[in-house]
Amino acid sequence: MSNKQFIERTLVILKPDAVQRSLVGETIKRFENLGLKFAGIKLALAKKEDVRMHYTVDPDWIKITGEKAKKAKEKQGINVSESAEEIGERVLESLIKFMTAGPVVVMVIEGAHAVPLVRKIVGSTEPLSSDVGTIRGDYVFDSYEMADTNNRAIRNLIHASSDIESAKKEINIWFDENELLNYSTAQERFIYDIDIKNILQ
Ligand code: AMP
Repeated sequence: MSNKQFIERTLVILKPDAVQRSLVGETIKRFENLGLKFAGIKLALAKKEDVRMHYTVDPDWIKITGEKAKKAKEKQGINVSESAEEIGERVLESLIKFMTAGPVVVMVIEGAHAVPLVRKIVGSTEPLSSDVGTIRGDYVFDSYEMADTNNRAIRNLIHASSDIESAKKEINIWFDENELLNYSTAQERFIYDIDIKNILQ
């Protein structure tokens, strides 16, 4: 297969709300339709420690998430006295509660440019402002405001790795090496091959 240098793996988690709302098929269909495939996929009950490890793979996650939350509040005209770190830690605690509330579907998706492609299909963090046509934009309408009012994590159905390095670290948390398979699919010949031969008989 050509274009091997463009092949990436990314970690996707269908959060408990996606499983509870029976959106697993609808969601993974979008990755398949695009031409991406699964290197691994399983139903799991997340452990608290794994969720914490997952979200702190990027050591700045707590601060960055806290800053985003603070900005969202200030945009609503609400003055926040807590530091970004305090808010981020609170968001992490609420996420741990959410992610361990019920089964999740964890998968490794593979293909050329898989990391940015999956992020594009998933849409931005807050469903209220995610673009129409994205998974979050089409299937859920939660907002920072609603989540904060109830002191809970935003229910946005899905997690997708932000970059190749975090994807590698996240995949290691959720999968053993032997759970990930290397194989080719019939459609890849058409997607990646330079030479399109032997179609017409
Ligand atoms: P990710 O799963 O990578 O999208 O991680 C960030 C997650 O944290 C989001 O998807 C939300 O579920 C949650 N989250 C981030 N910021 C907030 C916030 N301000 N309030 C509630 N939940 C948040």
